[in-house]
Amino acid sequence: MKVIDIINNAKRTVFSFELLPPLKGNDAGKLYQTIENLTEYDPKYINITTHRDELEFKELSDGTIVKRTVRKRPGTVAIAAAIQYKFGIPVVPHILCGGFTKSETEHVLIDLNFLGIKNVLALRGDGTKNQHVFQPEKNGNANALELVLQMKDLGAGKYLEDDLKNSLPLDFCIGVAGYPEKHFEAPNKALDLLHLKQKVDAGADYIVTQMFFDNAVYYDFVKKCREFGITIPIIPGIKPINLVNQLTVLPKIFSIDIPDELAAGLAKCKTNADAARVGTEWAIYQSKDLVANNAPSLHIYTYGVSDNVKEIVKAVF
Ligand code: FAD
Repeated sequence: MKVIDIINNAKRTVFSFELLPPLKGNDAGKLYQTIENLTEYDPKYINITTHRDELEFKELSDGTIVKRTVRKRPGTVAIAAAIQYKFGIPVVPHILCGGFTKSETEHVLIDLNFLGIKNVLALRGDGTKNQHVFQPEKNGNANALELVLQMKDLGAGKYLEDDLKNSLPLDFCIGVAGYPEKHFEAPNKALDLLHLKQKVDAGADYIVTQMFFDNAVYYDFVKKCREFGITIPIIPGIKPINLVNQLTVLPKIFSIDIPDELAAGLAKCKTNADAARVGTEWAIYQSKDLVANNAPSLHIYTYGVSDNVKEIVKAVF
């Protein structure tokens, strides 16, 4: 089932959680346990992240340094399909521009269609560690707008080989990312909103936001989107803090603010268990308020941890 239909048919807020594919060298056992831990609360769909190749420099025993490309978490498509079939819950694999040519993207979308996967989240991805700014692949999509346009072309049966005869349309429900506190590269909020509107006008079905910790920020973002003519559902992203260092790490990585009250609570934490308690309580408080205000769905960032997510959904749903 398509996420947009799930949301539109729901009588109240639903929820999804975001999972990372297992690290290379592991099987899916831990991931399945995470899902089993949460199924009784009826997640309506599950997001699966994608991780591009990274460049690594490795020192050999003779002192020489070799450069190598590694993908630490391969297998998004396979694990997404395995989850959808094992648990009967629709999955939303994340599709990136970064690291992929348009041709590779087309092949991934063909595979997803064969596997019965109807949903995707279309994302640009970030530059690699050695890139100052994001660099698309040669013949790759340069931003999420281009990726959405490619997906919509396929939705109309238009493949990269334009002489393909009797080609079937590949019809996906497409989510895109939005940034209540602005994407870190955008010169200002107005331009960021314009770029978001372009993705929506190109055919995105719904928006999922970057994490935020102050609901007023989300409500203001939704208001600005509506004033700008963006009418599609805007799904809030909730990150339950579970480590002491996330007080400083999250704002740095995601260009987001931690409200004073939460920051003060976390600053007092001596252990990660203390931080997880504060973070979970905050996420419950945020989630209850979002549900009370009819958010279409909650997108919970798990980073592989499910105990805190379980506490949240138990308290909220
Ligand atoms: P875009 O929409 O392309 O925007 C990127 C930047 O370019 C913005 O600053 C925008 O304002 C600007 N821009 C867009 N169009 C134009 C234009 N025409 N001219 C000039 N500037 C323009 N990353 C991963 O690697 N894997 C994941 O699985 C993953 N999952 C995510 C899930 C969610 C819910 C979110 C919110 C983010 C996720 N990310 C993931 C991170 C995401 O890839 C990064 O935030 C990335 O930097 C931007 O992606 P985007 O799709 O928002 O890019």
